[in-house]
Amino acid sequence: MGGVSGAERPEKVEVLIVGGGQAGLAMSEHLGAGEVPHLILERERIAERWRSERWDSLVANGPAWHDRFPTLEFGGFDPDGFAAKEQVADYFEAYAEKIGARIRCGVEVTSVRRDGTGFRAETSAGTIEADYVVAATGPFQVPQIPPIAPEDPGLTQIHSSAYRNPGQLPDGGVLVVGAGSSGVQIAEELLAAGRSVYLSVGPHDRPPRSYRGRDFVWWLGVLGQWDAEAPPEGKEHVTIAVSGRDGGRTVDFRELGARGIRLVGLTASFDGGVVRFASDLGENIAQGDASYLSLLDEADAYVERTGIDLPEEPEARQLGPLPSSVTDPLAELDLAEAGVASIVWATGFRTDYSWLQVDAFDADGTPKHRRGVSPEPGVYFLGLPWLSRRGSSFIWGVWHDARYLADQIAIQRAYRAYRPRSLTTA
Ligand SMILES: Cc1cc2nc3c(=O)[nH]c(=O)nc-3n(C[C@H](O)[C@H](O)[C@H](O)COP(=O)(O)OP(=O)(O)OC[C@H]3O[C@@H](n4cnc5c(N)ncnc54)[C@H](O)[C@@H]3O)c2cc1C
Repeated sequence: MGGVSGAERPEKVEVLIVGGGQAGLAMSEHLGAGEVPHLILERERIAERWRSERWDSLVANGPAWHDRFPTLEFGGFDPDGFAAKEQVADYFEAYAEKIGARIRCGVEVTSVRRDGTGFRAETSAGTIEADYVVAATGPFQVPQIPPIAPEDPGLTQIHSSAYRNPGQLPDGGVLVVGAGSSGVQIAEELLAAGRSVYLSVGPHDRPPRSYRGRDFVWWLGVLGQWDAEAPPEGKEHVTIAVSGRDGGRTVDFRELGARGIRLVGLTASFDGGVVRFASDLGENIAQGDASYLSLLDEADAYVERTGIDLPEEPEARQLGPLPSSVTDPLAELDLAEAGVASIVWATGFRTDYSWLQVDAFDADGTPKHRRGVSPEPGVYFLGLPWLSRRGSSFIWGVWHDARYLADQIAIQRAYRAYRPRSLTTA
């Protein structure tokens, strides 16, 4: 640990890993196993996002037996339970210790440029030269709020990454925009705190939390769905609504509606304090139901084919009545009249690789890569959604991608180490 050397010659490392979250740490484990010298630079602390960029009550979306690396269990924890965000961060700290990760915290990488056969990294603590660079700065870097957000000083507006707890918002109702895992959980928490809540629901998948005695993460595993290499056509922007809250429950918009959350369609526009919603709510709920039921079908087919002994659960197919907010949807809402004082934008994130000044991006800044290997020799991406498969941005998935990238780096090192016999014997 400690600062980057202030000596005249820049410090030299073979592989520079930028980012000390789960991706950077997994990379370190696999490079370490191959005895490849490397260094992680992390601008804050290990797994900082789990510590300071998530709301207070957040627990992991998957059970502890699954949302972990294969090489370390969650110590002293019910494997079927859902770890709180601090426990997840502690887990990664323990993991870094276990593998003896070479990591320096509190050092930000401000730029990386090609320099001869390798790269020159400028950091908040000096210059580093590296032969290979792994960008592990996260799938969810910069909070994204759509341009339709109104400029209204009377409204408190925050992104889900800045949401901590209901007490942080002024008294009054809340519009939560986005009904993926974050939006749904935040809306539930606000409702439980006595707030009047509007939840803007777009296209989503909502797998059953469990079916026939197995969590959905198990079903996605045995059905090979975590390994899907690309989202199904037309589902590229479909969010997934799951929750580990209160020990884990299926996200069911009917039930949320029955409990008092007012469901609305996609948030389309704002005009003079009035918000308009798309007329897609019924369709979004129906498609979410279809995704839910299709997973039950696939699970049943798997049981039938393999003969595995799991209890039947026909009641899982019984869907409750649609709430009135779905059968008689709101087209618009006057926020002041409805007493809505804040908006939580649970609308996702984008990446920012402005520090990585190499030829590895599309015109719009999207990383170009194949399974994380970029067209710029020596530059690798890790942790991005769908990097190689559906599981790539999740805890256990990134570990497998890191293993692949470590192998790719080892292959390149071997080629670089090659010298023609005529030269070595000359
Ligand atoms: C609300 C939420 C809940 C989630 N829940 C789960 C879950 O339950 N299970 C699951 O498997 N996944 C979950 N995920 C998805 C995923 O596991 C997390 O997003 C995880 O944080 C990604 O890890 P990472 O290492 O790829 O990136 P990050 O955790 O984002 O780590 C990147 C690190 O890079 C550092 N960094 C960035 N730029 C620089 C720089 N220029 N120089 C130095 N350091 C830099 C950052 O400080 C950060 O620590 C969740 C995501 C969100 C948003």
